[in-house]
Amino acid sequence: MKISIENPLCRVPVAMILDDACPVVNLSHFWIKLRHKVSTDDMPVEIPVSFLRKFAEWCLEHGVKGKFSYVPMPGGLGTIDLGLPGFSKARVDEWIDATKELIRPNWDLTPEMITHCKVVDLSDWTMTEEWEQGEWAQRPIPFEQLAPYIAAALRILHNCDIAAEGVTSPGAFQKVDLDNYAASVLWASKEVNGNPRPFLFCEVYDEDSDPLPYPKVYHPDKRTGECCVGIIAGTGDWFAGWEGNNREAVHSPDLCITEDLQGGRMPRLIAAGCPAIMVSHWPGFYFQGEEIGFNIFKTVVERLNQLPNILWMKTSEIAHYWMAREMVDIAETADGCTITSPMPCERFTLRLAGAKPGKWAVNGKPLREVAEPLALESGTWAKDGDDIVLAFDLEEGKTTIGL
Ligand SMILES: [Zn+2]
Repeated sequence: MKISIENPLCRVPVAMILDDACPVVNLSHFWIKLRHKVSTDDMPVEIPVSFLRKFAEWCLEHGVKGKFSYVPMPGGLGTIDLGLPGFSKARVDEWIDATKELIRPNWDLTPEMITHCKVVDLSDWTMTEEWEQGEWAQRPIPFEQLAPYIAAALRILHNCDIAAEGVTSPGAFQKVDLDNYAASVLWASKEVNGNPRPFLFCEVYDEDSDPLPYPKVYHPDKRTGECCVGIIAGTGDWFAGWEGNNREAVHSPDLCITEDLQGGRMPRLIAAGCPAIMVSHWPGFYFQGEEIGFNIFKTVVERLNQLPNILWMKTSEIAHYWMAREMVDIAETADGCTITSPMPCERFTLRLAGAKPGKWAVNGKPLREVAEPLALESGTWAKDGDDIVLAFDLEEGKTTIGL
């Protein structure tokens, strides 16, 4: 009997990544001013919480999941746990509370390093002359310096009662040495949040000539269950760009998925069975109140949701699934198999090629039969041609599957 691990519930994971979001402030206003030393007085200073609520409620209604950035010291203004100079503490707290209520249920909240602008000197919290996505993207930062820097970013969110499941790179931050970056994220995540299985988001493969953007597994340790995964976006920002006022950055929803659901990058990734993860930027979603990026996104989501075989997931959920794929040991038995896993994994889905229908059970607990693979949920099995597919919440340790 050939045993293989399927995508969760025999569906293809889909997620949205929104970068450059931070409490209250419009990051682009401060980034462009600081980077290019030009006036940005014509750009809004804030992205209002009313827009956040509208966006989040729409996403909840439509089942959207993904990752939402939470820059902990946006533009170097101040750290969000203590308050942002120029903005009342109540304003900042209102924004943080709204994200906990409406975003956190379906999105991972991650720091996008500390300032998303200049690198901070952790000894006095002033900004240096180096840029997180400049000098710190061009040369590898040694583990001894990088790991505490990432921990400092995570700690600001931790102080706001947010246990970030991973981190986001501003620009190409540390893409020059992803192994060292992943090791640093793993150390920092354990140190601050006690989380041994974080993810990082750094890479984008948006061309059909690129490799498929499967999650990359770094430093898996079957003994301790520790691991870090690199989540890779499979589209460019084909919504309305990062600046929030650049009309040349406005794209057609067809690049992601066409109206007939056949064309565009997303159906191609989904047909390949590869997690299909889109990326865009919060200021472009708001677009000075015109909500251009958000409106394009709504069209894309309404099209994607007509596909029968997708599964919206948080990026941390996708990361955990790929970690489990990498770290489990499966051994065939007379009537099924045993799985040894150093970590739990929700909706773990197996294919037993050529297995017979019957009273399939996990650790003696019977699974319920459903009509077809796309009807799977945790605790069920289905016939698929000559095979059996089954889905269940995998627990840490040993699991026995059999008749
Ligand atoms: Zn960014």
